[in-house]
Amino acid sequence: MKVSDEILNLVPYRPGKPIEETQREYGLSKVFKLASNENPLGPSPKAIEAMTRAISGVHRYPDASCYELKQALCQKYGITEDRLTFGNGSNELIDLLIRIFGEPGDTMVTSEGAFIAYQICAQAARVKMEKLPLSNHLGFQIPAFIERIKDPSQPTPKVVFLANPNNPTGSYINEKDLVGILEVTQGSEETLIVLDEAYNEFVRAKDYPDSIELQKKYPHLVVLRTLSKVYGLAGVRIGWMLAEPEIIDLVNRVRNPFNVNSLAQVAAIAALEDDVFLQKAQTVNWEGLDYFYRELDRLGLDYWPSEGNFVLFDTGQDSLEVYECLLKQGVIVRPVKGYGLLTHLRLSVGLPEENKEAIAALEKWVNR
Ligand SMILES: *Cc1c(COP(=O)(O)O)cnc(C)c1O
Repeated sequence: MKVSDEILNLVPYRPGKPIEETQREYGLSKVFKLASNENPLGPSPKAIEAMTRAISGVHRYPDASCYELKQALCQKYGITEDRLTFGNGSNELIDLLIRIFGEPGDTMVTSEGAFIAYQICAQAARVKMEKLPLSNHLGFQIPAFIERIKDPSQPTPKVVFLANPNNPTGSYINEKDLVGILEVTQGSEETLIVLDEAYNEFVRAKDYPDSIELQKKYPHLVVLRTLSKVYGLAGVRIGWMLAEPEIIDLVNRVRNPFNVNSLAQVAAIAALEDDVFLQKAQTVNWEGLDYFYRELDRLGLDYWPSEGNFVLFDTGQDSLEVYECLLKQGVIVRPVKGYGLLTHLRLSVGLPEENKEAIAALEKWVNR
């Protein structure tokens, strides 16, 4: 069978190392996983309750339109039904957008160091994902994006992918920069701007844009959100998209009809209503991040302030050796070599005791 080079050259996504595997390989009883930006509190108790109640109904196909969930989101965010659709995680929505708007040979644009799913999905669709250089602060360089988009000698990007905040760098794009890029692409009818806001609820920066408001003004803006991070539902897979009705209609044609399972739908509704859980998750995260900053300062390690639920730091050497040293001590973090960040590691915020373990293990490495 003949398979294209793009497919043959794909490198499978490397998820964080599982806890059980680490226990087996290193003969450890206690292992802390701070590698996948998961919610350390678990899911909202209300979501657990809703899934427990719904489980006896799983012989039925799920609601293909996610009607109840759609209503809940419309109420919560003041949006209309025709601007929403759902995915099996926002990862699926990224894949669908690339398949819908990209034909083989087309070009899309993102940054180096951007969430790796953009590259993987594009390559699978034989679409070129062009990556603009990161700034010195490991942020997206919006002026470079604008220059690239305006350059008539280069192919017009079909889609521009902006992760805000970005994973794994933790950097964010402020309102002024985002509006700048929306203005230069406004009305071109050739370029969509996809804003991936997986970590939206963790952002503390005051000049972070209100994408739901901006979408009303800029019809070429597509916003992606997920229940995987602050809402603690990564395992049931659900994300949502806010976009113009014409775009929603296209996605609904291409997606599998039952892409979002029935447990995910009820869990999402319950989680979205649980403000107490949301606030707790935010507090745990912000206190954890501030703790990491203080401790990384104390250990003399460079890091990048993060608007997500993780921090990227520089080990100053081949990151895999440090990764191994931490694994042996029962702490799983995330190497990010696939992003071209060869000396860096990404550390997710856990519960206070998990954060302490991670820092203690790092301190052992520093004092080796
Ligand atoms: C985790 C993450 C996602 C999405 O995850 P799903 O679980 O597929 O919803 C999307 N974008 C970024 C930048 C992420 O880090």
